[in-house]
Amino acid sequence: MDFIIKASYFAAAVLFILGLKKMSSPKTARGGIIWAGVGMVLATLVTFVHPTLLHAPEDVIFTNYALIIIAIGVAGGLAWYTGKKVAMTDMPQMIALYNGMGGGAAAAIAAVELVKFTEMTQTVQILAVLGALIGTVAFSGSLIAYAKLQGILRKTVRFGGIQLVNGILFAATVITGAIIAFSGVEYSPVVLAAFFVLALVFGVMMTLPIGGADMPVVISLYNALTGLAVGFEGFVLGNPAMMIAGIVVGSAGTLLTQLMARAMNRPITNVLFTQFGASGGGEGEEVSGSMKEIEASDAAVMMAYAEKVIIIPGYGMAVAQAQHKIWELTQALRNKGVDVKFAIHPVAGRMPGHMNVLLAEAGVPYDIIYDLDEINSEFPTADVALVIGANDVVNPVARTNPDSPIYGMPILNADQAKNCIVIKRGKGAGFSGIENHLFFADNTRMLYGDGQKVAADLVAQVKEL
Ligand code: NDP
Repeated sequence: MDFIIKASYFAAAVLFILGLKKMSSPKTARGGIIWAGVGMVLATLVTFVHPTLLHAPEDVIFTNYALIIIAIGVAGGLAWYTGKKVAMTDMPQMIALYNGMGGGAAAAIAAVELVKFTEMTQTVQILAVLGALIGTVAFSGSLIAYAKLQGILRKTVRFGGIQLVNGILFAATVITGAIIAFSGVEYSPVVLAAFFVLALVFGVMMTLPIGGADMPVVISLYNALTGLAVGFEGFVLGNPAMMIAGIVVGSAGTLLTQLMARAMNRPITNVLFTQFGASGGGEGEEVSGSMKEIEASDAAVMMAYAEKVIIIPGYGMAVAQAQHKIWELTQALRNKGVDVKFAIHPVAGRMPGHMNVLLAEAGVPYDIIYDLDEINSEFPTADVALVIGANDVVNPVARTNPDSPIYGMPILNADQAKNCIVIKRGKGAGFSGIENHLFFADNTRMLYGDGQKVAADLVAQVKEL
């Protein structure tokens, strides 16, 4: 039996790792999710015959099985329902919520194990406390991130000295944790409760000052922390599948957080400790030129008689759910012999891979979708750059104005195309709240309206030509 348990945990761990590897390409990502899911089912099933349950007294086995099955039923049902129902634009807050649950579960395991304090070695005690600290912070922080993204919490709480208050809170949490970790068998429920309360409050206080718009990066960071907490608690329980799953999530989350911060050209400390997008740095800045409007019929002519069109989707395409119409437009243009390519910025939309997922959902083939590095040199040879619902990711001030909050962020060079057409509803700013110089350029034309409606108009017009 022991061999079967160990072999199953090993198989689950291999499935997690291979699943994650497959998730690195849009072509294999769907399969990767299934592989990792099978690994999770296997790890869960094996838990039912785990030695600690097998060797537990009869009544405990019965109670635990009943509780486990009820919990799996309720949570699995809820996850299935919400996963099916959630809109693509609401995905970041759903991830925040699920991630918070993971952190909370790791912290709950730590709490139970810490109550059984006498049974632990010093190393395990330290790991249990670390897991509890990280998991609790990730839990309360993720809930605040969820509330902000869902619009439940609209205010960004900031006051002078908040970083000092947070510093003191953090120090108090760590000191309390250290007392628990190093106090041998002198376990005190009061200290333990104080530790969890402090960690909960610290998670809330650390997240409250961060602007709602930076939440996806913060969620990714909390995701990494949750992974770490689960890994530590896996060690505490002596469960290899938990350890490996935790380490995989922790390292993947850390890399993702770094990639997102780098793609925005902002150090992670800047995301955590400065308020971005709220002041709209660069507001009132003088922009020369004017925005020039174009009708859908003229835009359709420009594109239908072009040799090469590069489409740049952004957050607005997700809001408008225009991806299907954009794919129809692409097909109509390709039928006329136009070479159509998609250019994806790494932080277009509100979560990594946001645009890739939408385009895949609409059926756009992967071989016409290009990353920033692959396509940027092609813009000067493009007759039309069609920007749909993207703003910051095509703002040339990122290259030209060192005072701009997005200065240094790599952008898609739509301004270098022979012509640029921008689809958006009005004069609304992008996520960073700053004016976009591309919209005022001589070779740019604004095509106002909701993304889906305008794309449908363009399809109809191109087909008529
Ligand atoms: P932006 O948020 O900069 O701009 C989106 C634009 O879409 C707006 O200017 C808006 O203009 C327009 N829009 C909104 N709704 C519609 C609609 N229904 N139809 C047509 N247009 C619409 O998007 P980008 O994708 O260019 O940039 C993403 C930003 O998010 C970057 O600044 C990035 O740093 C940030 N970010 C991204 C993360 C990621 O992982 N992807 C994570 C965290 C932040 P209007 O209101 O006039 O229509």
